[in-house]
Amino acid sequence: MSAGPEKVIRDEIRALTAYHVQSAEGMVKLDAMENPYRLPDGLRREIGEAVASAEINRYPDPTAPALVKRLRKVMGIAPEYDVLLGNGSDEIIHIIVQSVARPGAVVLAPRPCFFMFSQYAQFAGLRYVGVLLNRDFTLEPSVFLRALAEHRPAVVFIDYPNNPSGNLFSDEAIAQIIAAAPGLVVIDEAYHPFARKTFMTRLAEFPNLVVMRTLSKLGLAGIRLGYCVGRPEWIREFDKVRPPYNVSMLTHVVAERVLAHYDVLDAQARTINAERERLGGELRKLPGVTVFPSDANFVLVRVPDATRVFEGMRRRGVLVKNLHTGVPLLDHCVRLTIGTPEENRRCLAALAEALAEC
Ligand SMILES: *Cc1c(COP(=O)(O)O)cnc(C)c1O
Repeated sequence: MSAGPEKVIRDEIRALTAYHVQSAEGMVKLDAMENPYRLPDGLRREIGEAVASAEINRYPDPTAPALVKRLRKVMGIAPEYDVLLGNGSDEIIHIIVQSVARPGAVVLAPRPCFFMFSQYAQFAGLRYVGVLLNRDFTLEPSVFLRALAEHRPAVVFIDYPNNPSGNLFSDEAIAQIIAAAPGLVVIDEAYHPFARKTFMTRLAEFPNLVVMRTLSKLGLAGIRLGYCVGRPEWIREFDKVRPPYNVSMLTHVVAERVLAHYDVLDAQARTINAERERLGGELRKLPGVTVFPSDANFVLVRVPDATRVFEGMRRRGVLVKNLHTGVPLLDHCVRLTIGTPEENRRCLAALAEALAEC
């Protein structure tokens, strides 16, 4: 008799549930931190032409020289650091975790944070430690330093700003953690376009630091491009684990063309920031709603009943993220991605109506 999955698939994989992407058909989609704006027509035509002349009969050049040159220029990446490209920064997390996956190695991160860190740690059979944040989502350095001493993690991941809370941890606290960490520290700057703060400028100071970013939240979620910047001695090792043709030629070409017009994306990010501040002010006026400070393109709110608010908003055509799933500190929290002014108006109205039903 041949074996079924229960005999072959690892127990910890069978115990997982697959990442569920909510259907957003016909909805105002404010659940995934996407940029709500399309690109201007002229730039879309330019992308079309670049794609049309790409030699897609060939494998992509993994060094992607034109794209990397553009990234270095736009993002101010110093020549002494190397750049690793990933099929989204998700793949970079996967690559880093696999690279450190000695038996017994530990992956450590704040709790709550981006959930893919624990997922990839689990896939690689590593122990994952989440260090609880304060109730206002700030990070307590002494608690973190104690966890570092106790668990001696091979790698520490820190979102800067943090997802799902939206806040930036203190620079001072993060610097203390990097200095004390016995292994690698990865600063995940997925929301850099909005927060405009970075640890990239501190790579010289810390030999155990790398910085990871993505173009997803900036308006290019569909093409899947993430990157990691660090000293060549780190990037060289990660590069061995990277699948040889991990990033598509179409992604190379489109990202290079769009980054040539970075001012367009940057202006969109500024509009989104201004909308976040405006929406935040409106949300604070709603009774029973706590709004947490955010430097990203979303805002975390606590409501009296997150599940009813989520359902009430969905019935009104607005899709957000319900985070009331048992994760500590996120009781009755929902995460609202910032959309266009019209989408935010609908979000606010749907939230107010859903609250009235609670
Ligand atoms: C969205 C997100 C990512 C994943 O980005 P992709 O490049 O789309 O894979 C990584 N880290 C954080 C903190 C995020 O919020």
